[in-house]
Amino acid sequence: MDTSTASNSALYRRMFGYLRPYRGLAISAFVVTLLFAAADALTFLAMAPAASVLFRENPSAAAADSLATVSAADPSAPSLLTDPLAIGGRIGQILENTAGRFIHEGLSQETLLGRVTLLILVAFLIKNIFDFLTSYFVVKLEQSVVRSLRTQVYDHLLELDLRFFNRTRAGDIIRRLTGDIDQMRLLLTNNLFKFITSVLQVVLAFAVLLGTNAKLTAVALIVLPVMFGVWGKLLRRLKRGDRSVLALSSDISSHIQETVYGARQVKAAAAEGFEARRFFDLTGRYFKAHVRTERVRALASPLSEMVGALGTVMILWYGARIVHINHEMTPQAFLVFLAFSMKLYQPAKWLSKFPSVVNPGLVSAERIFEFLDTPVEMPDRPGARAFDGFGRSLRFENVSFHYNPDEPVLDDVSFEVRPGQVVALVGPSGAGKTTLADLVARFYDPVSGRITLDGVDLREFQAKSYRAKLGIVTQETVLFHDTVRHNIGYALEHVSEDSIRAAADAANATEFIERLPDGYDTMLGERATRLSGGQRQRVAIARAILRDPPILIFDEATSALDSESERLVQDAIERLLKGRTVFVIAHRLSTIRHADLILVMDRGRIVQRGTHDELIAQGGLYGKLHSLQFDMRTELPAGPAY
Ligand code: ADP
Repeated sequence: MDTSTASNSALYRRMFGYLRPYRGLAISAFVVTLLFAAADALTFLAMAPAASVLFRENPSAAAADSLATVSAADPSAPSLLTDPLAIGGRIGQILENTAGRFIHEGLSQETLLGRVTLLILVAFLIKNIFDFLTSYFVVKLEQSVVRSLRTQVYDHLLELDLRFFNRTRAGDIIRRLTGDIDQMRLLLTNNLFKFITSVLQVVLAFAVLLGTNAKLTAVALIVLPVMFGVWGKLLRRLKRGDRSVLALSSDISSHIQETVYGARQVKAAAAEGFEARRFFDLTGRYFKAHVRTERVRALASPLSEMVGALGTVMILWYGARIVHINHEMTPQAFLVFLAFSMKLYQPAKWLSKFPSVVNPGLVSAERIFEFLDTPVEMPDRPGARAFDGFGRSLRFENVSFHYNPDEPVLDDVSFEVRPGQVVALVGPSGAGKTTLADLVARFYDPVSGRITLDGVDLREFQAKSYRAKLGIVTQETVLFHDTVRHNIGYALEHVSEDSIRAAADAANATEFIERLPDGYDTMLGERATRLSGGQRQRVAIARAILRDPPILIFDEATSALDSESERLVQDAIERLLKGRTVFVIAHRLSTIRHADLILVMDRGRIVQRGTHDELIAQGGLYGKLHSLQFDMRTELPAGPAY
């Protein structure tokens, strides 16, 4: 319990840290909240003279005097404003000097009623103006906090390494960026200010009650500890429940997202029934966890309500004695007391269930901070230098790598490439080709051995400056939900229209782009389903050509294209590779033939190396792959046969 209290207070401190940059707004919100609570009490105070008017004994006699005393309150006469509540001291003085001048015994019943109702209306008006201002400031504050929180979470997301994305489901990340931030927002602003208002309301109501009758106030307070005690036990269960509900809702988002992305595979495998069952199972678990948790939370209101009712009954019982037997209090004062005690119980009830209300926000805050605390695994070394190309060689020196310690993926890989050379990586699936290319891109660092550029370890360079010189074209061409133009010029600022068109030309993409409904302004879907495989690849090639990177990683598409696309893509690829240092995961024989060095990989090792002709002469795995896998069509000379 102690440790959780300690960690909760650390959590609160960290959360409130987000309010700090908006101090001015937070203080404004706080001040209007204070004023709102005061005005709220005032609306109740304004009821007191109404009760006095109702219970006033000889209205006609008072009316007879009214002309003589209309201008000022008679200090010796009983006050309609402060007497029912026995408010004395400075506050009583202030009230008498302000509202008391307006409402006093000397007025006729009718005038008095008119003024009392006006007073009530004015009190409500003031209260509601502050209510509006509170909401306004709180919304502004919460949106400022949400924005800085989202920015921080998103920036961290951009910095994280691929390893993180490998092990984390997209749905979980998205859930933390949206739902969790929303929960934390509620806690940090709405609930926080409701908490402040409630505390003030309790304090004010308590002060008024105490001023009216101390004994009765003591009776009213007896039940408060019971109200707060009820929660201690249930809270821990609630916290566990909220955590599993949030985790399951992340799972649901992830599942839906994976189905959307994998729609093709689901259909191809006729797995609709399988997925439906898995989803039904998941929602079933969510349902159970949610209902179980809410059942605990649902106890909050009725329990507090019952304790409140107990308090009211006790006040009634004891109050009736004071009024009728001891004559310590007038019936109207007692009525006002009763009304005010409800004013005490209402916020007290909310305060007593506050822990259950804020719990989801706390759990969400924990999840957000857990994400923000995920370390960036490959930060730049201190003193890392900017990369501006290499002139002699890129070398793999005894590089080994694994994702999981007991499953080696690359084993003692060494080779050397000179600038402008094309290296083709070939081998059966799972041999480690993609991993090797990812190491060149520095998505991962070698577990042992090193990669050097002109003798300098790749880790000595700033990752971003290195990747700026790197182009990557993969099979899974990711096109963004944007226009063709912006997809080609992705993330580049100040790109001229001409250079975009030139890149599209070089990638053999102009013709089909111009046939699209809006040409270069056509929006491509998130997954660019409007385009064929060959067209998607040509957009990606145009993007790479435009960026003109000296080092290129190219993962050739495995799927067969129609012969028209095949020729156009092949042509585009040739232009893409020209003049760069290229690592190509190759599937087409024509690409492989262009390579200066072919590395034949098997189970993480380089088993053969050389040019096409050398390797054909050697036979071995290359010979086998050659006869088995390579698309024979591409061996035909280019020409009308296509
Ligand atoms: P290739 O590109 O030659 O098909 P990969 O480099 O993709 O080979 O994969 C090599 C091995 O590493 C495979 O056994 C694969 O299962 C494993 N692997 C690839 N990516 C990951 C990953 N993110 N986590 C764990 N294992 C991986």
